Amino acid sequence: MGSIPPAGTIHSKSAVYPPPNQPLVPEETAKVRNWIADADSIAVLTGAGISAESGVPTFRGGGGLWRNFRPEDLATPQAFARDPQVVWEWYDWRRGLVAKARPNRGHQTLAELEKRTTKFTLITQNVDGLHDLAGSKNILKLHGDIWQIRCTRCEKSWQDRSVPLEKVPPQCDCGALARPDIVWFGEPLPAGVWSRARQSVQSAQLLFVIGTSGLVYPAANLVPLALERRAKVVEINPETTPFSENVDCALSGPAGEILPRLLSV
Ligand code: NAD
Ligand code: ZN
Repeated sequence: MGSIPPAGTIHSKSAVYPPPNQPLVPEETAKVRNWIADADSIAVLTGAGISAESGVPTFRGGGGLWRNFRPEDLATPQAFARDPQVVWEWYDWRRGLVAKARPNRGHQTLAELEKRTTKFTLITQNVDGLHDLAGSKNILKLHGDIWQIRCTRCEKSWQDRSVPLEKVPPQCDCGALARPDIVWFGEPLPAGVWSRARQSVQSAQLLFVIGTSGLVYPAANLVPLALERRAKVVEINPETTPFSENVDCALSGPAGEILPRLLSV
């Protein structure tokens, strides 16, 4: 494997001429249900869209957070170095939103799918912890966890679920400034997590790509990786993405409605 590209690299040719996603017709559903039944090894890549129906705003797409905020002002090491107070206030606000959210039927169906599958890996770009709450077990968090905080000096990290935070910005016991344990734009992904994600996609017979715009790299590289290995790839998204044209089946609609229909839960 080559060097790990920094997170947040944006795909330059976003879906300019996307073909329309196929509608959810019974034949499409039946096809995917058969693929699930035949697969011993399934990988799933989720993005912000799977939590949209839980009330957690996405970054892009309708109602996306980036319409009101510029990521480069908030989710970068440079922004944090410049103004940790502002960055922490933004995270404190997002933690408040996420704290009110509950897993939806999309998260729940994926937890059920894990129970029914011999080898199952859930790779998520989300930091909201809703997959854990739904009962998923084998989760790889590519971009960290909004409930984890870590020291900028001594590498200590800890969980803090308080909303709002007692002190903004929070500090470590050692007296240094603490930061969210989240992968910011321009930072490398945790190496172990990224190689395990690649391995699980390489060995999967079926990959679901759910609620991700496919514009944030290196996470989006997992999709071509599966296609190269000739795994079946199924996308679930109400909008078209750069992948829609190339996947084996693009199901257009909200994950919380489509996933339960694929599993009869
Ligand atoms: P994104 O915001 O770029 O894209 C969201 C995608 O979800 C869009 O393609 C949209 O069409 C789709 N979508 C919207 N509603 C949906 C639904 N009901 N069902 C299925 N799909 C739906 O998100 P991304 O691709 O995950 O990438 C951006 C980054 O955003 C990631 O790094 C992630 O860490 C971060 N993020 C995380 C959260 C979270 O933890 N919940 C929220 C916002 C952003
Ligand atoms: Zn410390």
